[in-house]
Amino acid sequence: MAIRIDGKKISADIKDELKAQVAQLKEQGRDICLAVIQVGDDPASTVYVRNKKTACAYIGIESRAFALPEETTEEELLALIDQLNKDDHVHGILVQLPIPDHMDEQKVIRAISPKKDVDGFHPQSVGALSIGEPGFVSCTPAGIIQLLKRTGIEIEGQECVVVGRSNIVGKPMAMLLLRENGTVTVCHSRTRNLEEVCRRADILVTAIGKPKFFDDTYVKEGAVVIDVGIHRDENNKLCGDVDYDKVVDKVRAITPVPGGVGPMTIAMLMNNCVEAALRMDS
Ligand code: NDP
Repeated sequence: MAIRIDGKKISADIKDELKAQVAQLKEQGRDICLAVIQVGDDPASTVYVRNKKTACAYIGIESRAFALPEETTEEELLALIDQLNKDDHVHGILVQLPIPDHMDEQKVIRAISPKKDVDGFHPQSVGALSIGEPGFVSCTPAGIIQLLKRTGIEIEGQECVVVGRSNIVGKPMAMLLLRENGTVTVCHSRTRNLEEVCRRADILVTAIGKPKFFDDTYVKEGAVVIDVGIHRDENNKLCGDVDYDKVVDKVRAITPVPGGVGPMTIAMLMNNCVEAALRMDS
């Protein structure tokens, strides 16, 4: 029977470990602070921001929320980021994406100091990951490595196929699997014979944003399947990029949706905040 990789449990373990670490730092008089900026009132972003605040409160990290109106100018947002970059009390800065269309997302990301870039989206963080230097790693792929390691799944020497090449999931995922000595193939919308390539995978990571796209024809017997997608199906139930029921009997291990990759993202964000504080103080 397939192992159901329990992201809820693993993320809770990580948060408890961080909570203990933060308590120890507090005893030494060291506080950690995350600044979270939201521009506009996109309902999904509001939920994500609220969840981040709740996680901070649980772990003992101070969260400073900045809810800016939709009509905020790019200059105003950049000025706030500059102010937070210079504030020694703030260890991590996060701008909840997406931001309104009248702002240049890349410019805003680049304005955040790489020392406080807890989302790992700054070009310097991305470059550091590519050349194996210390830096912040995008939270969702970092969480997937934790899921694999903490479930006892070996990456070294395995055929890893990542489907999706976005800057926040697919590309950093591929770099991290490579860092763990996997043999990595990255697929995208122009890949030919996708089924065939996916069937080579010992570890298949799906991040394309298409509900229940991957059925058993994409999966090798005994593979490990990591499903990053999050969608609502025709019955309004949460589902992933993978058709779970069709592949579960064929695989060695699989992440469910919900309760797989999803909860890991915030846990790794919290981890990056603690790391930011430790690096800044050292
Ligand atoms: P993007 O839309 O940025 O990227 C999708 C990628 O999938 C692109 O590289 C695209 O290829 C590729 N793709 C699309 N259709 C196909 C296809 N038919 N065959 C092969 N490749 C295809 O998505 P994200 O990476 O931001 O997110 C992917 C999914 O993960 C979404 O469902 C999102 O909601 C979810 N997600 C979940 C998170 C979590 O915490 N669990 C966090 C982030 C995302 P091309 O480059 O050629 O266009």
